[in-house]
Amino acid sequence: MKLIDGKKIAEQIKTEIALKVKELTAGDKRPPHLAAILVGNDPASETYVASKARACKEVGFDSSTYKFESDISEPELLRTVEFLNNDPEIDGFIVQLPLPDHIDEQKIIQAVNPHKDVDGFHPENVGRMTIGLPAYISATPNGIMEMLRRAKINTTGKHCVVLGRSNIVGRPVSILMSAATEPGNTTVTVCHSKTSGLKEITKQADILIVAIGKQEFVNAEMVKDGVVVIDVGIHRIESSRTKSGFKLVGDVKFDEVSEKASYISPVPGGVGPMTIVSLLQNTLKAYQNLIYS
Ligand code: NAP
Repeated sequence: MKLIDGKKIAEQIKTEIALKVKELTAGDKRPPHLAAILVGNDPASETYVASKARACKEVGFDSSTYKFESDISEPELLRTVEFLNNDPEIDGFIVQLPLPDHIDEQKIIQAVNPHKDVDGFHPENVGRMTIGLPAYISATPNGIMEMLRRAKINTTGKHCVVLGRSNIVGRPVSILMSAATEPGNTTVTVCHSKTSGLKEITKQADILIVAIGKQEFVNAEMVKDGVVVIDVGIHRIESSRTKSGFKLVGDVKFDEVSEKASYISPVPGGVGPMTIVSLLQNTLKAYQNLIYS
């Protein structure tokens, strides 16, 4: 079994981005600037936004966070989106999800200028990705593809099974894995909570991408020998073995599935770090105007 070391790959990419930023800002040019809108006090969202800000600093980007109480009104949030759409010093921005129930998430996503939509959630970017045009591809699927590319996993002609059909992971990654690209060119089966005979399907996978949000759901009996496994899930569980009293696990039972896999991405240190660098890559593209030029 070979580990797909997302952390190491992400560090490499950050070094490349930092070099590019130095080159592009030679003279007096301002660096790329990523902004984030954060609503409420969800600890996971706060951690995620803070780690994005840290990553920006590491590569020489500017970053800013627009933080609001959870009772912000929808019109007020829309005004902030509009403000960032029009700010020439902001190259890209994200609206950290989930938003409180009284705010229509789709309305906010669709208000973001697609040219600044570095999260790749706007229908224009999703549509462009689907038909193979240059697009901002959302961070997690993009990170998975980059991981497969850099780990030199040959995907063409393989059977890829994707567990999960969410708009942020399962659906887009299934589209990318079926695209006429390398990585890609796979025959894709998408499974979800209404799929019957799941184990029979996962056992046929050459490449198994798991994004279902169920702790250690995939076990050794569900995979064949030699499978490539990408584990997207993240769960924080109690542990008596760590100082913090917690540890992170994925959607896959790592210990037993890694015995059969040819390659596997761990949790932590797999897809998570790749997601953050993907956002940096998208922001750099926005700064260089590479997608909509
Ligand atoms: P989500 O929106 O909850 O979607 C879960 C998907 O899994 C749904 O399509 C659901 O089917 C399907 N599903 C649920 N139970 C299933 C079962 N028993 N068998 C087959 N399919 C099943 O989750 P998500 O946002 O895609 O995230 C998935 C996991 O990835 C979570 O643990 C999340 O924390 C993690 N994540 C990690 C990163 C990262 O950067 N590493 C980024 C994003 C998400 P239905 O559509 O039928 O409900």
